[in-house]
Amino acid sequence: MSRLCMRTFLESPLSSKYRLPISPSSAVQIRGNTYMFGSQTQVWSNVKQQSLDEAASKSSIRLTPFQMLWAGRFKDGTHLLKSAQFLRKELPIRIARRVVDFQKLPHIVLCNPVIHDVYELYLRAFSVLNKFPKVETLELEERYNRIIRQLLDDHQNVVTNLAEGFHECQRNVPYETIDAFLNRTLTSRLGIRMLAEHHLALSIDKPNYIGIVCTHLNFRQLVERCSDFARQVCEHTYGIAPGLIVNGHTQAVFPYIPAPLEYILQELLKNAMRASVEHHLDRPLEVPNIVVTLCSNDTDFYVRVSDRGGGIPESKLQDIFKYSYTTMGDRSTIRPSDDPNIFSDLCKGHPNNSPSGGPMAGWGFGLPTSRAYATYLGGSLELQSLEGLGTDVYLRLRHIDGKKESFRI
Ligand code: ADP
Ligand code: MG
Repeated sequence: MSRLCMRTFLESPLSSKYRLPISPSSAVQIRGNTYMFGSQTQVWSNVKQQSLDEAASKSSIRLTPFQMLWAGRFKDGTHLLKSAQFLRKELPIRIARRVVDFQKLPHIVLCNPVIHDVYELYLRAFSVLNKFPKVETLELEERYNRIIRQLLDDHQNVVTNLAEGFHECQRNVPYETIDAFLNRTLTSRLGIRMLAEHHLALSIDKPNYIGIVCTHLNFRQLVERCSDFARQVCEHTYGIAPGLIVNGHTQAVFPYIPAPLEYILQELLKNAMRASVEHHLDRPLEVPNIVVTLCSNDTDFYVRVSDRGGGIPESKLQDIFKYSYTTMGDRSTIRPSDDPNIFSDLCKGHPNNSPSGGPMAGWGFGLPTSRAYATYLGGSLELQSLEGLGTDVYLRLRHIDGKKESFRI
């Protein structure tokens, strides 16, 4: 292939005429990375581009968490049928949009084997869900649930895979393209997983829970649980970890969906602990506590995480919210299978085993993903660095039973 041909081939997005999945047939090395090129034939021959485009163009319905709660519970299971029927219509639309979004990526990105695998996962999910018959009986609902559970498992490592894939091809694509694509993909994934997990959880009786919504979330306990988790990962990495002080509205209890909040808090606490320990490597017995301040008012709730980890130099401040930006350095020490994944073990109980909320640091996904989630949840994430002293991170999220309308899933 001539240089000019190769350039055009690498940089142009797939034209709409050929927006079909690529079947990788040969591996090519470009600038040290492997790319899969091949004829543009369908991998999932039963998925027609037309059905994808049709599904993607339908309007999607986004529910508030309260609308999800009001679905009610009936002894005859009609609420389960209604919920499954809603998902059966909604999920193919959302997944088709993801597939089409992947297809619009520059060709060089979609040819990355790891990203291509994720693309195929979405394609397969669309194929399976789009052909599922109308859920009219509880037997069919049970079959539908098995499929949903399987898909949730299959997609468990998607965030890690995207992190790996985009890290590999970041030099070939404008950062704005990566940023916009990842913000859309990660928040849409969050929404899809919340809907799917909510439906599956509707048939489980758990005190204080309706589906994935905790009706009496103890703010302080949740923060402490996340801190225990971050401390374990920190001790595993450095042998020590800072203590934690929680102050402010420590008695607050309100309804919320814990999983995304837990993900964000874990990431913020891991960052704060890492900075605190690394800033005191010569004085390990003097690592200062992390201070977490809680606040809950009529419309929003806040978490401020303050550390004495030395802050962030001004020259680096514009980079820290970029995907793949990290100062951790040696990626070889990181287990790529660790998934910074919501609905990880953390939601089911205490995370004793592997750090399924991600490693200590190294993918550069903690801050940008947390900010994307916070925005999706109707809130914000801001950071204030006092260079030489420490960092304050402010997380604001909208109440789901507050005076203003909450986010939609
Ligand atoms: P990672 O933790 O994988 O490096 P993040 O997105 O969580 O990725 O953070 C990006 C970078 O921002 C970190 O590598 C670190 O340099 C910086 N950073 C984040 N939080 C803090 C903090 N509390 N104190 C100092 N630096 C921080
Ligand atoms: Mg981090």
